[in-house]
Amino acid sequence: MRPDKEQLSSGAMTIPPLSVKGLTVAYDGRPAIENVNWDAPLTGLLAIVGPNGAGKSTLLKAILGLVPAAEGEIRIHGKPIEDARGDLAYVPQRSSVDWDFPATALDVVAMGLYRRIGWMKPVSRANREQARVHLDRVGLSEFANRQIGALSGGQQQRVFVARALAQKAKTYLLDEPFAGVDATTEKVMIEVFRSLRDAGSLVVCVHHDLSSVPEIFDHVLLLNRRVIASAPVKTAFTPANVARTYGLPVAG
Ligand code: ADP
Ligand code: MG
Repeated sequence: MRPDKEQLSSGAMTIPPLSVKGLTVAYDGRPAIENVNWDAPLTGLLAIVGPNGAGKSTLLKAILGLVPAAEGEIRIHGKPIEDARGDLAYVPQRSSVDWDFPATALDVVAMGLYRRIGWMKPVSRANREQARVHLDRVGLSEFANRQIGALSGGQQQRVFVARALAQKAKTYLLDEPFAGVDATTEKVMIEVFRSLRDAGSLVVCVHHDLSSVPEIFDHVLLLNRRVIASAPVKTAFTPANVARTYGLPVAG
């Protein structure tokens, strides 16, 4: 068997999957995030938490190379973005997706395989089978041929998670995956994320429900244009840090 890259390079296991140094991103000259310094943990479920407009989506987009950095440096598994696209899978914020796009649930999942099968090639029977396995994993096999626009919000979100699974990335970035989803979807997604973690991946979710952070996540990044705290939930998710993040007076 051919040893993989991780085994060849002894340092690889300690390189953070995401590393951001001095990152500033601006829209029309106005910084949305400023001087963000952050090394993500090697594995686990990580929540990015902060008020509306804190720059959470912007941070994910900058890591993905979807918005340019005004200043700073981003490394993904030690590499610049251009060399690391295949390492990342992304689920955008639901509200930013055009759900009228004419595609079935299976088509959308198969799109996640395109990096592997090449753009514009017809989806082969084998790839359809693979896409089906991922749809099954999120409990949607019976909806394979349904137009995505005709699925419920929670089902649409699960289709996107299945597409991310099809990408077989190392690191998963999801923008508010739990927003407005039903209890079944939440349960299925937590199970999927935990199995990715158990396989050694880092799963990053922008998350807006503060009350469920301790039960779902291992790590938290508290962000309000700047990093307020970044550590295991037990250490960083304190009332004082949450208050600082949301600009509330700190009690006591
Ligand atoms: P969050 O995801 O934490 O709610 P965003 O990253 O979406 O925050 O936005 C951070 C700030 O940047 C907000 O003030 C928002 O209005 C602004 N912003 C986001 N995207 C754009 C854009 N494409 N053009 C101009 N301003 C933007
Ligand atoms: Mg956002």
